[in-house]
Amino acid sequence: MVTIDDLGILRDVSYDGATLVVTITPTYSGCPAIGAIRADIDAALRGAGFDDVDVRTALHPAWTTDWVSAEGRRKLHEHGISPPTHGATATTGPVPLTLSLPTRLLTCPRCGSSDTRETSHFGSTACKSLHRCRSCGEPFEHVKEL
Ligand SMILES: [Zn+2]
Repeated sequence: MVTIDDLGILRDVSYDGATLVVTITPTYSGCPAIGAIRADIDAALRGAGFDDVDVRTALHPAWTTDWVSAEGRRKLHEHGISPPTHGATATTGPVPLTLSLPTRLLTCPRCGSSDTRETSHFGSTACKSLHRCRSCGEPFEHVKEL
């Protein structure tokens, strides 16, 4: 439903001599999907007639959820997944720290209510958390800000 471009994983496509070089950045270093994503890019390009393909991984700068495009956020919301808040990780100067869990004000992607609560910090994948809407009762996943 969302492309690697929507998610900000695709960083660059260029030629190094005769080799088509695709540079990707994993969403986080332990993401198990990156191997499958590499293989899919390689297979798709070879299927499209590119024989000399190199899929490279760039770990720096590190991926952040701010790289998810507006289109990617729209698609996630449309598919019932609460998208990460844009700019939530952007900070300058001192960072306030707290020892208590921050209150998350997430909006239910189904009914729009902000009366939601986290039911699990981990969802179907480590980068998502599980929530339930107290208004419509529906559970939903949220892509965590990184
Ligand atoms: Zn709801």
